[in-house]
Amino acid sequence: MDLALTDAQRELRDRAARYVDAVLIPLEERAELGGGRLPGDDVARVREGARAARLTGGNHAAEHGGQGWSAFDQVLVQEELGRNTNGIWWHMGGGYNVLSRGTPEQIGRYLLPTLRGERADAYAVTEGGAGSDPGGIAATAERTADGWRIRAEKWFVTSGDVADYDILMVNVVDGDRRLPTLFLVDRDRPGIEVVDDPPFTHNYPHGHPTVRYDCEVAADAVLGGEEMIGRGGELQNEWFVEERIHIAARCVGAMRRLLDEAVAWAIGREQFGGRIYDYQGISFPLADSAADCAAARLLTYQVAQLVDDDADPKLVHGRAAMAKLFASEAAWRCADRCVQVLGGRGYMRTFAAERFLRELRVDRIWEGTSEIQRLIVARGLEKRGVERMLGIEG
Ligand SMILES: Cc1cc2nc3c(=O)[nH]c(=O)nc-3n(C[C@H](O)[C@H](O)[C@H](O)COP(=O)(O)OP(=O)(O)OC[C@H]3O[C@@H](n4cnc5c(N)ncnc54)[C@H](O)[C@@H]3O)c2cc1C
Repeated sequence: MDLALTDAQRELRDRAARYVDAVLIPLEERAELGGGRLPGDDVARVREGARAARLTGGNHAAEHGGQGWSAFDQVLVQEELGRNTNGIWWHMGGGYNVLSRGTPEQIGRYLLPTLRGERADAYAVTEGGAGSDPGGIAATAERTADGWRIRAEKWFVTSGDVADYDILMVNVVDGDRRLPTLFLVDRDRPGIEVVDDPPFTHNYPHGHPTVRYDCEVAADAVLGGEEMIGRGGELQNEWFVEERIHIAARCVGAMRRLLDEAVAWAIGREQFGGRIYDYQGISFPLADSAADCAAARLLTYQVAQLVDDDADPKLVHGRAAMAKLFASEAAWRCADRCVQVLGGRGYMRTFAAERFLRELRVDRIWEGTSEIQRLIVARGLEKRGVERMLGIEG
């Protein structure tokens, strides 16, 4: 597998890095001290900067207003975005990949305006009683004379406080059958209510509220049209694979920034008449973190390359789980070590390491917990074999 960058990829990565350094990182302290929220003119600068740098909607086709990047290109950019704390890059805009599976009419109504920054989406699957096992969701859609009656209560709806529509996973009721299906639900329908908007560990741009739906939607609200009824799980997996790879890439970026800051600090800091970097109690955890970062980077690049090579989707699913598992666990270890290297400063919210320590924790939970990733990897070892899961084939 050739992981060398083309000139175009190097240019893309460097362009993303410049944007992160010039636009996103300078806003971090303001975002942190503002509970994650930024004033409107800062948000506009983030958005316009991303647009000017041609970094918006990388996972979508150019004809839909995206950048048409390969999975590998996306990873290069996500890695740079991962160097940013407080999720300020969320303001860049973008749309969930499943929107591209909409009907032409849905693409025009949802995806295109979302990529233009005129609409905002949220993706609601989890419920109070169904998290790791989305097969246990209780949300339903029942046919009515004019369309569908939706009844659902969704938890942890990221950006559900600002979204103007949701991609909603519900079970279509068909006699005794329950068919998992994604619906596009506009928030201006009567009967949709944010019932709780709790604070979370990180200070990010948007909340993760609980949203209750008891509403009517039109007959054409099924994402992808009627033939996609019962195929919500399939679409969901496409989203999981992409987002797990992106999470892994951002964790790599976070580790790079943590290492940059902790190594520079340890080299410059003197205690007991010498550089703390020269104490192995300090330099060894940094060496371990460098090994973690490099290994996570290779796993992530390899799975992105598998996507671009159109490899067996089941193998990609397993390898994406492996990359997300390793990178998120490694980034958490790395953040903890770097906080320790920084001493008391590592506990200050004005230092990136402190923010990363809180922010990276959720990467071991969302888009499937580490335990769920282990289950997927273990299943892959059995079904696809050890060699293929280790990337030894070919
Ligand atoms: C900040 C944040 C944002 C989120 N955003 C969204 C969003 O936008 N949309 C959305 O739909 N969801 C979202 N989620 C939900 C997230 O995907 C779930 O929290 C996650 O999948 C875990 O589900 P749960 O919280 O119900 O935990 P549970 O499923 O109850 O799990 C609890 C513990 O049990 C373990 N466990 C469960 N089953 C097994 C098993 N078979 N073997 C071993 N261990 C197991 C889990 O790993 C975990 O440690 C978000 C969550 C957070 C915290």
